[in-house]
Amino acid sequence: MLYEGTIYRPPSEAYSLIVQITVGCSHNGCTFCNMYKDKQFHIHTLDQVLADLNEARLLYNYVDRMFLADGDALIYKTEDLVTILDTIRELFPECERITSYATPRSLLLKTPEELSLIREHGLEMLYMGLESGSDTILKRVNKGHTSAEIVEAGRKAKAAGFTLSVTILSGLGGEELWKEHAVETGKAVSLMKPDYVGEMTLNIIPGTRLYEETKAGQFAMPDPKLILEETKLLIDSIDNEGCVFRSNHVSNYVNIRGTFNSGRASMIKQIDDALERNTFKVRHYTNM
Ligand code: SF4
Repeated sequence: MLYEGTIYRPPSEAYSLIVQITVGCSHNGCTFCNMYKDKQFHIHTLDQVLADLNEARLLYNYVDRMFLADGDALIYKTEDLVTILDTIRELFPECERITSYATPRSLLLKTPEELSLIREHGLEMLYMGLESGSDTILKRVNKGHTSAEIVEAGRKAKAAGFTLSVTILSGLGGEELWKEHAVETGKAVSLMKPDYVGEMTLNIIPGTRLYEETKAGQFAMPDPKLILEETKLLIDSIDNEGCVFRSNHVSNYVNIRGTFNSGRASMIKQIDDALERNTFKVRHYTNM
């Protein structure tokens, strides 16, 4: 099977077969991200992907989950993506779930009819980065979209029947904009109504523009206690009945999991307890 460069997948796809149908990210411009810096965005041809699927069938007896990589598999031409999904169904009848990352751009580019068709042919769940609901922060980190556009993209995915998981990045507003980051992100999640929200904590990675900005004193990462205050405010700002919130990535200071809206108070209490007892993880968020 053809794999190019480092392959990334969401934590919940740890046991999925990964098939790389696109390489890199079609945006590849966020100031904090180095995931696909070594890759020029391109797609794997349909012939290549079909050959990979046939090879995978020979290699693996049982595949119950499949993740289509890289950072923007949904950008694939709709007709060809449908062929890929049909082939997965044919070759892997035991496969219960097919998922992929989607950028706001690819969701906004596809028509509602195209998205419904892709969903009907078996792509079930999409992971999309919101990062922040604040337009000021999104502009600073060069996300390439406003909050309203990302909300619209998420709502399009939901309307087409996808299960939607959204990632947000705590610390992204820095010390200066942590409150705005929390409140506006809460508002965006409440409007978009994803099924899952995954919170990760910002890591300032050498080689990124944000690293240089931090070194130059233009960005200050909030300390762990402030990050947890930010997460509390975020949780308090989300109104999204039934949405599962997870903050259990290795980058997070406290592992939190709960379901809105009934679980809000319990999630906030978990953070208060950790702050009171000083039991939050200590980690390094920068290699400077
Ligand atoms: S859209 Fe996602 S993968 Fe692409 S540069 Fe931004 S954070 Fe990285």
